[in-house]
Amino acid sequence: MAGAGLSRRDGLFILAGVAGAGFVWSGLQLNPEHLYRQLIDQDALAHEFDAAASAVLKETLTGTPLANRYRVNQPPEDGFANVLIFSAKALPQQAAYGGIELKSAGCLFTGSHGLVLIDADFLHDFLPARGFYDGGPVPSAADRLSDAKLLMRWVLGHEIGHLVHGDGCAHFGASRLDSPARDTTLSQARELGADQYFLDHLLLNPDLTVAVADLMMALINTDVRHQLGDSMLPAVGIIDTGTGGRHYRYFAGGSHPEFVIRAARLLELLGNKSGYEGMTAMAASFLRGLKEADR
Ligand SMILES: [Zn+2]
Repeated sequence: MAGAGLSRRDGLFILAGVAGAGFVWSGLQLNPEHLYRQLIDQDALAHEFDAAASAVLKETLTGTPLANRYRVNQPPEDGFANVLIFSAKALPQQAAYGGIELKSAGCLFTGSHGLVLIDADFLHDFLPARGFYDGGPVPSAADRLSDAKLLMRWVLGHEIGHLVHGDGCAHFGASRLDSPARDTTLSQARELGADQYFLDHLLLNPDLTVAVADLMMALINTDVRHQLGDSMLPAVGIIDTGTGGRHYRYFAGGSHPEFVIRAARLLELLGNKSGYEGMTAMAASFLRGLKEADR
């Protein structure tokens, strides 16, 4: 993780240049405001998530010293939660901010200046790239955007948990979510704490809670189907992974894509809340199944 480099001091650097594009980001000592201006200059700010991100910030910062002190795609200010949402595809190759490759930023809390970076392309592409819509009706652009906003609720809410808890640099990116992860590493208090933080605020809105739970189950099932090679498996809740002698498993080494474990963990946490008890057994059985498959 880039955390050590970030926390070293506030002097952050955009280190990368791009040949032939008539544009070089190099050696500039940076603060978030400089990054903001660079994103403006590159016409890379993405605004389709602005309203949804503001809603997440309003909800998740209530009751904290940062209540109502947030800025989305505006010049960052100290003493605020500053969220910059950009299209990584619009940036030059190798664009970086303090050691963080913006092309693979996903969603991350930088660990300083209350700065959270979100790659809008990550939000748009994550679900389709994992076959989320395969085997079903072609979703409208509006449906896809609405799913991407739900995904943003999860990843941004989680990162705000890190920010409020004073955690260092924390990353919620596609490559990380796809990398095999031992579930024991994810039980770190920090990660669970951030998910719990997100969930506690989400629960204030029952409709959204159900929508996020549905997304988590659909994400898990997408991956189960992918592993079992059958897009037609019926599912109510999480697919029963022991059915028909077929076993859903990932890597023999006992690790699983992080997003599957995170989604199941979130449902398990949700199951601790009154009214959502059904989630506990389902998610616990799913997680147990993953662990048993490792043996
Ligand atoms: Zn985290």
